[in-house]
Amino acid sequence: MSSESTQPDPTHELAVLQAVVEGMAEGVWVTGEDGTVLRHNSALKEMLFTGHELVGRQPTGILANDELQAAVERACKDGVSSRLEVTSEGLRPRVLSIHVAPLGRDLRGSTAVFFDVTELRHLEKVRKDFVANVSHELRTPITAIRGYAETLRSGALNDPAAAPKMVEIIHRQAERLSELVDDLLELSRLDSKQLKLAAEPIELNEAVLRAIEAARPKARARGTAIDVSIPDGLEVLADARAIEQVVLNLVDNAIKYAQARGHVWVSARPTDDGNVELAVKDDGPGIEAKHLPRLFERFYRVDKGRSRDMGGTGLGLSIVKNLVNAMRGEVRVDSTPGRGSTFVVELPRPGRALSPTTTPSVANP
Ligand code: ADP
Repeated sequence: MSSESTQPDPTHELAVLQAVVEGMAEGVWVTGEDGTVLRHNSALKEMLFTGHELVGRQPTGILANDELQAAVERACKDGVSSRLEVTSEGLRPRVLSIHVAPLGRDLRGSTAVFFDVTELRHLEKVRKDFVANVSHELRTPITAIRGYAETLRSGALNDPAAAPKMVEIIHRQAERLSELVDDLLELSRLDSKQLKLAAEPIELNEAVLRAIEAARPKARARGTAIDVSIPDGLEVLADARAIEQVVLNLVDNAIKYAQARGHVWVSARPTDDGNVELAVKDDGPGIEAKHLPRLFERFYRVDKGRSRDMGGTGLGLSIVKNLVNAMRGEVRVDSTPGRGSTFVVELPRPGRALSPTTTPSVANP
């Protein structure tokens, strides 16, 4: 190798360094020894979601955070590094993890690297909330089972009027526990992608009627009429077990919330963009608009007490959403208080011609 080729080219090195800093996903700024920002990369501006000029401003002028200002001053004056977490305010609040360090022995000033940890912190919160919710949901039936079992043990077993009722409650609460654990396992299988869903042509009418069969005892008990109106031969690209479970969960909810001796309608139609829309509608109380965006979240309920009294786990709709998404579909809800609710599932349709006849079938309980 010639001696020339080993000589570093400062212009080239600077260009490379600038390209590296500019290519980083993390935000970076460099300050002078008084803490004023001298330069930064584009990622930082995107992260802070600001159109304002950052050069020439002090850290507090950019993020209004005393801790960050102090960290920059410490780096500039005392050569001390720090790591801190700051929440940026504004249109798009972000949680930023910031590492502030002195530039180096010969260079006065500091540098800071900004990591956007908003999503990470959000996921941590979701996980913590989920664990807290699961513990709470498990504790409620366990407390009831333990309480009634103890009452029976301490004498009520010999009370022919009270004992059967208590055993009945214990049984109901044990069923609830079992449903909750089943739902949690289903969600966990969906989360870990253990559940392999097929994408095969499914005759929608048949799948819906099978699901309604399973919901029939509840419909009968509440005197709910279920109307089914699905074109003959209409198929969706789905997994047979998953589509039945989706319909069962939606129909079960519709029966639960429909008026006593009320009505539930299940209908489907092909859409112009090659999908199928399946709608489950009820004549129940409807849902206020403020709840709609959160309805498919785990354990989200409009009326906690009422849902539990009716045997709900608060997981049904989140299972529906996960199953539908795993089948490359979408689910949404339209609802107006006092005018019932309609849950709509949109799934892909295999490229097949439809039979022109539409035969509404009525499945009375
Ligand atoms: P749950 O087991 O409580 O029914 P879901 O996840 O199935 O849980 O539903 C979440 C919440 O959404 C319910 O608690 C209820 O408040 C509301 N909800 C679901 N379906 C309906 C419906 N058809 N009509 C009115 N509210 C509904």
